[in-house]
Amino acid sequence: MVMRDILTGLDQYEVFLEKLEKEMEQIGEDRIAIVYTDIKHFKYINDTYGYKVGDALLRDFVAGFLESEELILCAARVYSDNFVVAGRLSADSLTNEQFRDIINQANMKRETEFREKYLNSRLQFCTGISVTDKNSRSLDAETAVSNANLARKVAKEMEHDSCVLFDQSMMEGIRREVEITSSIPRALEQKEFQVYFQPKIDTDTLELIGAEALVRWQKPDGSFVYPDEFIPLIERSGQIVDVDYYVYREVFSFLDKRLKEGKKVVPISLNVSRVHLQKMHVLQYIQELLEEFRIPCSLVEFELTESIYLDNTEQALELIKGLHSLGIKVSMDDFGSGYSSLNLLSKLPIDIIKLDRVFLKEGEMQESDRIIISCVVDMAKKLKITSLCEGVETQEQSNYLKEVGCQMQQGFYFSRPIPQAVFENLIKEQ
Ligand code: C2E
Ligand code: CA
Ligand code: CA
Repeated sequence: MVMRDILTGLDQYEVFLEKLEKEMEQIGEDRIAIVYTDIKHFKYINDTYGYKVGDALLRDFVAGFLESEELILCAARVYSDNFVVAGRLSADSLTNEQFRDIINQANMKRETEFREKYLNSRLQFCTGISVTDKNSRSLDAETAVSNANLARKVAKEMEHDSCVLFDQSMMEGIRREVEITSSIPRALEQKEFQVYFQPKIDTDTLELIGAEALVRWQKPDGSFVYPDEFIPLIERSGQIVDVDYYVYREVFSFLDKRLKEGKKVVPISLNVSRVHLQKMHVLQYIQELLEEFRIPCSLVEFELTESIYLDNTEQALELIKGLHSLGIKVSMDDFGSGYSSLNLLSKLPIDIIKLDRVFLKEGEMQESDRIIISCVVDMAKKLKITSLCEGVETQEQSNYLKEVGCQMQQGFYFSRPIPQAVFENLIKEQ
């Protein structure tokens, strides 16, 4: 059996785990720190300069941490650019936090060196650390490493710090994620998802002229799980596609039913998750719904969030064109919430721009926000794009939007998202 990794000379991962297990068994009063690191943007080095340079970088990386060999118990390359090192910390030496800060400093120093040497200004070391002591004896080596790996994933998502200490709350996050993603199939089957509607108001007439469909998840015990909590998780698992399709179908069927009963209807907008852009089946699904329900295409709109356009401009453009060819309008959601690009407004043929509620902060309106809102509305007007402002909570805000000519408004000032039955009563009153 090959005991060592040929490229770096480090232990094979299985050998590392055996050694770590033994060290953990005889831990005594000491602590063992497991330091799990990967190199962000390493793939770029391989892709640009070839594997030889990539290999040299990995060896270079290993040489760096072997300089402090006396502290190291064992080390391995888990795969590719993922390394794990176990070191001993005596009881009276550094605290866990001090140790993390030292590794963080070392990472930053080496990042600077590597960025110059390998001509890549984005290389970054992401490190997670888990520390075990005699109290965590029940842990096996593999779990200790996977805890460090979990902390590394958290580090990878952070903008600045690149070194994170594992703590138990990270497990809580994972437990919640598993709980949510594993209950989605049942929730769909049992119809635990409901569509709520938030009215959109015409600024001039103050009439209800449309609504946004927002999903709500009511568990069998009656409690609600809100979209901000579960949507990011089911986007990661891909299940958002099924949930979105469910919402679309409910809305199409709702409109169809009302039309058949001769009742009043207003256009409803539906949210499109970024996940749809990876496969683009969404367009076909919408087409199928249109064929099945035969409602006028002007009764549905689709909202794509601003960041979708920035991350996937090509696919977003394709989707917009596809929706337009079906006669469906598209809005840019959350405009202004991220790194909005004014440029995009002229590049993409969108019909409606939804100004994010960041422009409407709590309390009195700020002069700077007033200026931005009026400029965006003005620009949209010149580009023949309809503007709608979200998150309107006060009369002052609503009046200002009227002053600057923002055509539509949506927000708690008019109505919160409401269940279908309440929404139907509201349309009736008009
Ligand atoms: P969004 O598309 O920006 O939806 C607007 C959110 O702002 C809604 O939160 C709404 O309740 C809230 N809101 C509306 N007016 C006000 C206001 O005056 N003040 C404040 N503070 N908030 C207001 P909700 O329903 O919790 O949805 C959150 C996000 O979840 C949505 O943001 C959307 O990105 C996503 N989402 C909701 N339903 C769906 C869905 O069916 N599919 C997909 N893909 N995403 C959805
Ligand atoms: Ca939306
Ligand atoms: Ca929005």
